[in-house]
Amino acid sequence: MSRGVENVRGLFFDHRDIEMAVSLNQILRLTIQIEGSRCNLSCRYCWSDHPGSSRRNMTMDEVRTIIRQSTALGVRSIVLTGGGEPLLDVSRVREVLSVCESLGLWAVIFTNGTVVDAALAEELKTFPVSIVAKLHALDDAETADWLAGQTGAHDHMMAGIGSLLSHSWTEDKRLGCEAIIVRRNAEQLPAMWRWMRQHGIIPYFESPKRVGRARSMEEEEFLTPSEMGDVFSLLQEIDRREFNIDWLPKPPIAALGCDKWHYALYVSGSGDVYPCSGVFWPLGDLGRQTLKEIVESPVCRTVREVNSHLKGRCGDCVWNSCCYGCRADAYALTGDPFAEDAGCWFWKPMRASGADAVNRADSEDEHE
Ligand code: SF4
Ligand code: SF4
Repeated sequence: MSRGVENVRGLFFDHRDIEMAVSLNQILRLTIQIEGSRCNLSCRYCWSDHPGSSRRNMTMDEVRTIIRQSTALGVRSIVLTGGGEPLLDVSRVREVLSVCESLGLWAVIFTNGTVVDAALAEELKTFPVSIVAKLHALDDAETADWLAGQTGAHDHMMAGIGSLLSHSWTEDKRLGCEAIIVRRNAEQLPAMWRWMRQHGIIPYFESPKRVGRARSMEEEEFLTPSEMGDVFSLLQEIDRREFNIDWLPKPPIAALGCDKWHYALYVSGSGDVYPCSGVFWPLGDLGRQTLKEIVESPVCRTVREVNSHLKGRCGDCVWNSCCYGCRADAYALTGDPFAEDAGCWFWKPMRASGADAVNRADSEDEHE
């Protein structure tokens, strides 16, 4: 029997918790753009120049208030995210982590890793926090630096990951590495995946979204849906054969998929609320509303029930009770957050006869 897929601590909730959160109109996770869009890299796939990615930083008082409000709505983890580098202001991160700790919350930091040294790796470990660091390539500094938009970035990124490894961050699923899949690094992905599994790092591999700076990335860097499907199948095969881990090679994040729309929200640096960090479909404004008002709004309910609103191929797919693809490109390309994910390679149409239930059961059997 194969092992289940593990996710970074703080990023995963089991099905029962998610179903309960949806039925109670609660959220389990709140993502906050903590450092505005200030960053020391210029990654070519970054969404930070989108208008929804704020140049303003909320004050610490505002951040504290939002986190406190979130606990009453069921939140268990706070994600400090990019579109800006959270660790450029370590004292601010320290304050947020202290607030989380005092409220019994877990935190997750998405970072490019360049400012993580031994001292910081040791200090952060004392907080209830996981880290997801970027990895563009293993030994190919040219490709990694090209993706980061900065010469020398790769050395700093690898040094950061090295510091986290030497301070045992892989214990208790506290370390993940994020890789964005483009043509330049596609051939290196199997080696990167193996390396992460061998070191106990949880891989977080996903395609670039056509949002923010990624809209200016060369078109040839975007793999076709079928090429992306081949990459996912190859990574799945490595997991099956070498690590006894099995998963469906469906979009949008290898092995992990995406279920955040059911239980998470994203707050930009200016307090605007969106379904996630790739879909700047406005749900509310914390300058004028409480988090509770936004979470309980009809539009937020629609987000939670995303699967039943899917259109196009996603609306006519046997997987659409457990998959909604990635909503980022759907929204960016059509203006409709529920349009089909045009980047999907995994579509399986329901039978025209209407025997959906049979089709869904067949699909689940195939997976088992
Ligand atoms: S077509 Fe099906 S498998 Fe593909 S993203 Fe949509 S729901 Fe998922
Ligand atoms: S819908 Fe796409 S952009 Fe949004 S959280 Fe999921 S994978 Fe990320």
